[in-house]
Amino acid sequence: MDLGAIADNWRTIAALAAPAECAAVVKANAYGLGIDRVAPVLWRAGARNFFVAHFKEAVALRALLPEAIIYVLNGLLPDCAADYAAANLRPVLGSAPEISDWSDYCRDNGAKLPAAIHVDTGMHRLGLSLEEAVQLSGTFRLLGFTPSLIMSHLACADTPGHVLTARQRMVFADVVRRFPGIPGSLANSAGTLLGRDFRFELVRPGIFLYGGIAINGVPPLRPVVRLEVKVVQVSTAPAGETVGYGAAQRLKRPSRLATVSIGYADGLFRAGGSTDATKGVEAILHGQRCPLVGRVSMDLATLDITDLPDGVVQRGDAAVFLGDGISVDDLAARSGTIGYEVLTSLGARYARHYVGG
Ligand SMILES: *Cc1c(COP(=O)(O)O)cnc(C)c1O
Repeated sequence: MDLGAIADNWRTIAALAAPAECAAVVKANAYGLGIDRVAPVLWRAGARNFFVAHFKEAVALRALLPEAIIYVLNGLLPDCAADYAAANLRPVLGSAPEISDWSDYCRDNGAKLPAAIHVDTGMHRLGLSLEEAVQLSGTFRLLGFTPSLIMSHLACADTPGHVLTARQRMVFADVVRRFPGIPGSLANSAGTLLGRDFRFELVRPGIFLYGGIAINGVPPLRPVVRLEVKVVQVSTAPAGETVGYGAAQRLKRPSRLATVSIGYADGLFRAGGSTDATKGVEAILHGQRCPLVGRVSMDLATLDITDLPDGVVQRGDAAVFLGDGISVDDLAARSGTIGYEVLTSLGARYARHYVGG
């Protein structure tokens, strides 16, 4: 895990986004990379606003960063306001009951604590409806709390030219105008790249910090993760034999095989296996790309090393699944998923080494 790359990536986006402020999204254990190592690095790089999804994540982050502004994206569950206040967290309020809970708590305790208000501009996942937002805009100064951010989220920013993206931006611009003096935030990583009109006062990049692709066709920033696993056995098999569970792939030639210590329990997706009909994931052994052969097991996968000279691959050698030109998005594409899921699925059994930062 290259923490220096994460810091560089944050500085790159922050410079691009200026004069908008640049937050850091560190939900799901900093996209699987380890919030305890990643968050302090982002703080030192200059990030002051952080977003997590869950209350528990926020509490862990508060222990790491006593002075950070921490927003909790999934909002406020019933009877939790006191816990949020005790940890100095800002819930992202997306419904009338959440708004009244936080408002009541603040009134009862005589403190106008901050919170974000989430408005749904077309994703239909979280947030106040437009009607609710317009109604609230007439009375927001009477709330028991201090709205510190008006936010919304883009559904299709990764797809260049999607009509919903333009529509959401227009709707959001209208909403923030109705809340004068309160900063607005619309853009995730992809939205930040879409231009000034999308950035408002605060941008919320996640995937771009961690070396993933934000917009299809726009190259990522510096890669962050390198994933090496050990060869546990080298073997040969004649043409016509099959490899792995379900005998899903039949060898077309006499083959040399390297079985490696990685499986779906480690986040190598079963959908990334190889069959007679579909190609799967590749890994690099001794500088050469080798295809997976057969299904991915829970703890093991098998690589076809026939194109490497006999005897080169040895038990204990490293096979590179991420790095040396294989990006998280390459691995994702060959597994039928996205870079986000590759990162957040990185298994608990790896020995993690952090460099830089
Ligand atoms: C996850 C998330 C982000 C970050 O998205 P990326 O595409 O990773 O940049 C921003 N805002 C919200 C509301 C999110 O849920």
